[in-house]
Amino acid sequence: MKVKVDYDLCESNGLCVMAAPDVFDLRDDDQLYLLDETPGESRRGAVEDAVQVCPKQALRIEG
Ligand code: SF4
Repeated sequence: MKVKVDYDLCESNGLCVMAAPDVFDLRDDDQLYLLDETPGESRRGAVEDAVQVCPKQALRIEG
């Protein structure tokens, strides 16, 4: 599984961080960071939650 972020759409509200804190991080510079671009299958549920809660549709899962 590969996680893609559209940084043009992301508004850094951190909702994905709450859903999957081991995959996404929001830092002091208010930018979203991907901690793990290729999370293991065990993280799929959490990453799917993050995709669903993102109000900007900025997240995508490939594979
Ligand atoms: S939930 Fe969406 S808009 Fe919010 S920080 Fe994550 S990717 Fe960006």
